[in-house]
Amino acid sequence: MARIAIISCGNVKNELSCAATGCFKSFNERKGMFACYGDDQKSQIVGFSTCAGCPTLYAMEKILTKVKPLVEISKADTIHFSSCMVKLCPFVQKYKSVINTMYPHVEVVMGTDESTPLATMKIMLKNLLTDNSHGIIEEFKRNMPPLA
Ligand code: SF4
Repeated sequence: MARIAIISCGNVKNELSCAATGCFKSFNERKGMFACYGDDQKSQIVGFSTCAGCPTLYAMEKILTKVKPLVEISKADTIHFSSCMVKLCPFVQKYKSVINTMYPHVEVVMGTDESTPLATMKIMLKNLLTDNSHGIIEEFKRNMPPLA
């Protein structure tokens, strides 16, 4: 039984208003990077957060401000970085290393939902960041299959 927390990209979550639907759907259906929990219905999501914003190369420990409550209050023993974060964030491996050093008992897993192709994700982000004629809902409708 795992106590799982998800951390997603702050830019995607907060600036673009991603609802993290794919992350939670994948957990509920035990798909993508949650397939390893199989029929383990006792595993549960105990927290959700975002990164603390791009840290530049000099403030990697910023991530700990977000991880501490998840581990020390929610008692998460497993942290999944969202799939968008894993694909797009240049700091993700350093974040993993910082968390592993501070909390060696916490497993850090790279990914959440079944993967959107990197090329599709980059196109969607580019459109959202450079064209304010539409938002994330329209962009998802254009590029992603509808949720079952
Ligand atoms: S540090 Fe990485 S995960 Fe956080 S906002 Fe920047 S790109 Fe996204």
